[in-house]
Amino acid sequence: MDIVKGSDRIVGLDNADAGDGFVKWAPVKSMWMLTMTISAIIFAPLTVSWDALAVFLALTVVTLCAGHSVGMHRRLIHNSFSCPLWLEYALVYLGVLVGMAGPFGMMRQHDLRDWAQRQKVCHDYLCHRRGILTDYLWQVHCDIVLKRPPEFALEARLANDRVYDWMERTWMLQQALLALLLYAMGGWGYVIWGVSVRVAVSVTGHWLVGHYAHHEYRETDGDMSWRVTNASVQGRDVRIAGLISMGESWHNNHHAFPGSAKIGLLPGQPDPGWWFILLLERFGFASEIRTPESMPKRKELLRLPIDGTGWKVCDLRKRLWRRMFNAA
Ligand SMILES: [Zn+2]
Ligand SMILES: [Zn+2]
Repeated sequence: MDIVKGSDRIVGLDNADAGDGFVKWAPVKSMWMLTMTISAIIFAPLTVSWDALAVFLALTVVTLCAGHSVGMHRRLIHNSFSCPLWLEYALVYLGVLVGMAGPFGMMRQHDLRDWAQRQKVCHDYLCHRRGILTDYLWQVHCDIVLKRPPEFALEARLANDRVYDWMERTWMLQQALLALLLYAMGGWGYVIWGVSVRVAVSVTGHWLVGHYAHHEYRETDGDMSWRVTNASVQGRDVRIAGLISMGESWHNNHHAFPGSAKIGLLPGQPDPGWWFILLLERFGFASEIRTPESMPKRKELLRLPIDGTGWKVCDLRKRLWRRMFNAA
């Protein structure tokens, strides 16, 4: 079998198979999200106020942008820029506060998926290939158990790091600390909006962007600027979520240049995570910033003509046009 490597942390690939496995209910993860989602649905309308909304918005932007996108994804997972260790801890801690997983759990999930999507055969779970309801239940409430998984080996500097180990063991508990602080500041409204609503929205939103960024809804390559010719799954840009995903939804670019600190590469692709890295650089906190221009060329990468529209409705319109005028 053709073995294509993912990150350097995915090892032991000789017998690994990304297609053979089953999906199993993950009780802890599922109860966690049910608690957040149900408490949000019941109590959010009862506790809404302008300042609770402001707390929700501010914490969501900070934890998703500085935390999840820049700290966890672009720095810890991809090493796409360098920064002082104290800053890396702070950014990754904000990423932990998103409420999705600890730093190592996030890395494991990301790298496994990344590796699986480059194999010839990839399980529907790892490629988001099922319909939206099944995919929601699978990704948010279940785990994949591969019969022959690859091994996951953390780089030594992380495996021996006590701070990250602490974050990994206590990532759920961190919401309780934040909740106490929020309660002291503004009572139950702040707790519901700053923890329950925020975690439910962030984790569900993360899954939804992941779903549309991989699912093969389209016949055409409307939301693709690049094709990775040897991968079984292509990433797609989810235009509508560019800004609110902090730039993460320019996912076709990310499949093309995983190690790039800049994800929104083309004109009209806003990338708040990248703006934040530029800000860090301005103050001398970020260096060795990698972008496609400074990275080695990938021969398996094919540049596609830019469509310029991208929206599904536009694809439909074009298809209709083709059918009306070009049909044989
Ligand atoms: Zn992807
Ligand atoms: Zn990535």
